Amino acid sequence: MQKTIYLDYNSTTPVDPRVIDSMLPYFKEEIGNPSNTSHALGWAANTAVHQASQKVASLLNCNPQDVVWNAGATEGNNSVVFGLIRKLKSENPNEPIHFITSNVEHWCVLNSFSAAEEFEKIAVTYVAANSEGLVTLDEVKKHIRPETKLVSLIWVNNEIGAVNPIHEIATYCHENKIYFHSDATQAVGKIEVDLQKTPVHFLTFSAHKFCGPKGVGALIIRKGFDIEPYIYGGGQQNNRRSGTLNVPGIVGAGKAAEICATEMKTESARTRELIKNFWTALKEALPSVKLNGPAIEQRSPANLSLVMPKMIDLVRPSLLQLAFSQGSACQAGEADTSHVLKAIGLAEAQAYCTIRLSIGRFTTQDEMDLALKMLISTFKLENTHSPNVTN
Ligand code: PMP
Repeated sequence: MQKTIYLDYNSTTPVDPRVIDSMLPYFKEEIGNPSNTSHALGWAANTAVHQASQKVASLLNCNPQDVVWNAGATEGNNSVVFGLIRKLKSENPNEPIHFITSNVEHWCVLNSFSAAEEFEKIAVTYVAANSEGLVTLDEVKKHIRPETKLVSLIWVNNEIGAVNPIHEIATYCHENKIYFHSDATQAVGKIEVDLQKTPVHFLTFSAHKFCGPKGVGALIIRKGFDIEPYIYGGGQQNNRRSGTLNVPGIVGAGKAAEICATEMKTESARTRELIKNFWTALKEALPSVKLNGPAIEQRSPANLSLVMPKMIDLVRPSLLQLAFSQGSACQAGEADTSHVLKAIGLAEAQAYCTIRLSIGRFTTQDEMDLALKMLISTFKLENTHSPNVTN
């Protein structure tokens, strides 16, 4: 049987074998709890966690003390929203609070904000992204109020690869004393994220998006921007996130960050070339295919979001060997189209024809060639019956 071609790196990535090797001792011999430094094993685990923080800090150009380990971006994003609300309310219980985010965020951000509206009575504005999926500084500025405390924007969109002007918006917020958070889950390890250059106060990510293990990530809290904890307990990590640390996961995340720090530049150039050639050849063979989000040179180096000439569910059986995401999904019996595709102006039918191909470190030219061949032969056959999905 032919192997599945994995083109779903934005969902999750394979763990790099070097990362697995780095983790193994922490399951077997180095079994200590880093919070218990009264014996050698606890001390060794504590040192390993510090080293992992240093590796993340060098990838992001921040302080190792800024790194708060957690279970990944979902937890990190919730922590920023609710930790900041708790801090603001404890400082000024009667002051109104207004937050700004966008309509193309990941669900874990959108649902954190809607829970804050419902349970914390916070006002939230969902700024509209433009037709490429980008949120501009001008658009954000239109919604700033005297009581605006936080702007939270995705760095790289997980569905359509749009790269927001984070430097510009973070700088504006920093200068105007507004907290700035970025969900950088699809940016870390793929494009430059330099926190000395760009004044992001809170940054969140998951290790499994850059060839690290699942269920581990970090919230970066820059010095001087402390918030209340989201999870209370034994006071680990200077009381910023309690709970026994996931040492093997953290060691793996650190190793994954270290690999990205040395290989990211060449690797991103390689994946960008792969998607560029793929897109050129596909467009030539199937001229009605449309690219969602920015042009190849301006988008994430590892993502293609494509409106194909036919509803994907109808051709899925011919594409079972390709692992990719769809612009619509049938969940619990109900059809659901992507809020991001809707936000950038796609009609329902176009969302149903959309596929997301996302690639990474282990994607080869041969796999891309084969995937291209499969898509072309599937849609060439189907082209004659296609619905009208032109722009
Ligand atoms: N934000 C973005 C942009 C993502 O792509 C994802 C994962 N799809 C998340 C947050 C959530 O990450 P996790 O499930 O690892 O918590």
